[in-house]
Amino acid sequence: MTAALSPARRARDLEATAGALVDVVVVGGGVTGAGVALDAAARGLSVVLLERTDLAAGTSRWSSKLVHGGLRYLAHGEIGLARESARERAVLMGTTAPHLVRQLPFLIPDAAGRDVSALGAVGGRLGDLVRLSVAGGRGSLPSTRRVDADAVGRLVPAVRPGRGGVVFWDGQLSDDVRLVVALARTAAAHGARVLTGATVTAVDGAVDGAASGSVEVHADVDGEALTLRARTVVNAAGVWAQRLAPGIRLVPSRGSHLVLRADRLGSPSAALTVPLPGSRSRYVFALPQADGLVYLGITDEPVDGPVPDDDAQPSDAEVQQLLATVNQVLAEPLTSADLVGAYAGYRPLVLPASAGAGPGDATADLSRKHLLAWDGPVLSVVGGKLTTYRAMAEEAVDAVVERLGGTARSTTARLPLVGAAPRIALDALPAPARLVARYGTEAADVEALGPDLVVAGRPETVGELRFAVRAEGARTVADLLDRRTRFGLVPEDRARAVPVAEQVLADEL
Ligand SMILES: Cc1cc2nc3c(=O)[nH]c(=O)nc-3n(C[C@H](O)[C@H](O)[C@H](O)COP(=O)(O)OP(=O)(O)OC[C@H]3O[C@@H](n4cnc5c(N)ncnc54)[C@H](O)[C@@H]3O)c2cc1C
Repeated sequence: MTAALSPARRARDLEATAGALVDVVVVGGGVTGAGVALDAAARGLSVVLLERTDLAAGTSRWSSKLVHGGLRYLAHGEIGLARESARERAVLMGTTAPHLVRQLPFLIPDAAGRDVSALGAVGGRLGDLVRLSVAGGRGSLPSTRRVDADAVGRLVPAVRPGRGGVVFWDGQLSDDVRLVVALARTAAAHGARVLTGATVTAVDGAVDGAASGSVEVHADVDGEALTLRARTVVNAAGVWAQRLAPGIRLVPSRGSHLVLRADRLGSPSAALTVPLPGSRSRYVFALPQADGLVYLGITDEPVDGPVPDDDAQPSDAEVQQLLATVNQVLAEPLTSADLVGAYAGYRPLVLPASAGAGPGDATADLSRKHLLAWDGPVLSVVGGKLTTYRAMAEEAVDAVVERLGGTARSTTARLPLVGAAPRIALDALPAPARLVARYGTEAADVEALGPDLVVAGRPETVGELRFAVRAEGARTVADLLDRRTRFGLVPEDRARAVPVAEQVLADEL
């Protein structure tokens, strides 16, 4: 079966889904849901994924786009979590998505304080040891090292000159949405039916827990009612998971990033890393992107009350906190006039069952773990990280398979996502490196759709938008500009791109 999520495939899948009985319905098309759909479909289960908006419409597109080895976990002595992160990073970089993850140096300049960079060096070396202890870790990243003032000037030219620093390495996604789209399409290639614009409104029916038992899943698909039957339901609705499973307790927090032009920091090749004042484990990162932008993040603000459906926005206080932190080490301070965009997302942090009644009873570290909990035929899988989505999905589908009385084992650690190939093969592809980093082995197909740019001054081509409609399930302007491409991170550029996106939709649909 093809990995193309084309309009024709959607129509066929929709028709086949109405009234059908399937092994697993997955609710939510973020990294968790897409990962679960792939793991289940690859084991031979029949799978329908229902996503209310679009792939990666929720938290998964607002991340820092890092595939990280869990240095922060190490700082808190969470060796198990750090090893899991390092192992999953090696799987992504070595097997499942080498095209989407690149090696990124992180610079902690001595300008932040010699004690700060010394502590960073200790953390980086511990991270190296963890990396060497997991399969595929050796050789996947360079080791932590001290660098002189010249190197600091080359890596991040905007840092106050004259002092050295410490460099450690981690993984960076070309784009978090690309990972989710690749997961959903690979699941589709294994037979999963992936339906966006499909809001699950209720799950009900007899619950007997046996393999033959099933429930009714009700959804609203573009305003039309859809009902199907499922032996199990996996609730991967992120910070909105409580709506289907009121019993789970979440303590969401908002994380924000600012967007600026890379030349404002001298077009850095490393991620500038500066600790938040008073913290030994929380850093602000200025993360260079492939498209001439830098994302500056991250904050961690508790959110009171129910999480809204609308996108989160950074508060003024968060903007000032991020600028003030990074300005400590810059020769010329940044101001809000340097910002061309900003974004924020809600972390699906889980309050452990053992915690007391109030959010204050959860520690930040406990809540970084994911939750797996059955409520009748509904298995909620919430929390974790983008980096560890595969391990979470494997654990969730193990539980589903056990519930269904099967024995099939997960194959996803060895299953390349659509577009993946060994690094050496990717480097030899006859296509622009920028497209290879987003589409992998499909880069030539995208290039063949034409070189015309969507708007002047941005690298995205009209061919990318056409490919998004033909093969990646994009159906709206927002799908094209806020998810398959990331124009939306710079509102001014997005506004210029809207007429082109509208024309592509008119041509293709
Ligand atoms: C600011 C920030 C930075 C981060 N940075 C990193 C990082 O650098 N690296 C890393 O590894 N992790 C990072 N994380 C964590 C990571 O982004 C999240 O853990 C992960 O994206 C959560 O994915 P998810 O699929 O569980 O949730 P989501 O992506 O939110 O997906 C849930 C989906 O469910 C859908 N949905 C909700 N209700 C329904 C319904 N009733 N019917 C159908 N669909 C529904 C939503 O539309 C949504 O698409 C970061 C998180 C934040 C907030």
